[in-house]
Amino acid sequence: MPAATPSIVPMQKSASPYLAAQALDKAYRKGQCAVPVLRGVDITVQKGEFLSIVGQSGSGKSTLLHLLGLLDVPDMGRVSLNGKRIDDLPASTRDELRNRVFGFVFQFYHLLPELTLLENVLSTLMIRHSVFEYWRMRGQFRDAACSMIEKVGLAHRLKHRPSELSGGEMQRAAIARALVGQPEVLLADEPTGNLDVQTGREIMSLLTKLNADEKLTIVMVTHDDAIARRAERIVNLREGRLQSLEDAA
Ligand code: ADP
Ligand code: MG
Repeated sequence: MPAATPSIVPMQKSASPYLAAQALDKAYRKGQCAVPVLRGVDITVQKGEFLSIVGQSGSGKSTLLHLLGLLDVPDMGRVSLNGKRIDDLPASTRDELRNRVFGFVFQFYHLLPELTLLENVLSTLMIRHSVFEYWRMRGQFRDAACSMIEKVGLAHRLKHRPSELSGGEMQRAAIARALVGQPEVLLADEPTGNLDVQTGREIMSLLTKLNADEKLTIVMVTHDDAIARRAERIVNLREGRLQSLEDAA
């Protein structure tokens, strides 16, 4: 069932934010010049919320998602989780936090081509644990991976490699890989961007169901307004800042 019409106003300040960023600046160097991409982005995400960030291609959506998920660091500003600053932690602590707290889904899936679907999903748990621990827990991990694969509707594809899957199936596999480690937040970067309209809708139905049934916090970026409207709330990234859609009109 489609989500209710999303609110286009920023979240009220009264609810304490779960994931937040303040005054984020990020520029990329091009020769001598710094090309500013984010110029003072403020954002708050509540636990259990499904937030869409919409913006044109090149507006900085991926950059923002990478900063929120500790894949990159801001030039200025801060990112916090449960009120605690996380962007300035030592690299090893950030790596650990990123692996445990965030699950990522990308437009082009980024599955490992030589691994089966099951092995791709298990790779999240392999990365997180030592060889010894993984070996000791392998039965449990396999059960967790199989049950996540079943949840995304791919139980009949366990042994298939990515090249033997359709685009929609690859994205389902990527979602299973992101969620098998039970992250607190799913960060999705144009998850339907490479799919036809109907398959994109199916992926959105899966995400809205995970949000509704399991209270999974989701931050999704997209350039597609119709896709964005499937979330509970939409913010617009324009000229390096976030605005409500009303401001941006
Ligand atoms: P979006 O995801 O909204 O399309 P991006 O965050 O990918 O936007 O990129 C925003 C801008 O920053 C674009 O102009 C892009 O060319 C530039 N950019 C992104 N990543 C890099 C990089 N690693 N080096 C240089 N420029 C980059
Ligand atoms: Mg992008």
